Amino acid sequence: MNPTVRDPSSSDTDCQNCGSTGLPTEPVQRVYCSPESPSDLDAATIDNEIEVWCAACVANYPHLAVKPG
Ligand SMILES: [Zn+2]
Repeated sequence: MNPTVRDPSSSDTDCQNCGSTGLPTEPVQRVYCSPESPSDLDAATIDNEIEVWCAACVANYPHLAVKPG
């Protein structure tokens, strides 16, 4: 049993960015902005791993939305 593996179809889970629990979350791919050009997406690194974030984190941190299906 691995508590870090969750059913991705569940909409109420833990935010993997801030750790809030019981909030609606959505799947995203984290984007690591380049420190030298934080607004340049071409210089940013996109994490291959899909995480689930709450609305506050989606609003405040760079990410790519993951479209279901
Ligand atoms: Zn969060």
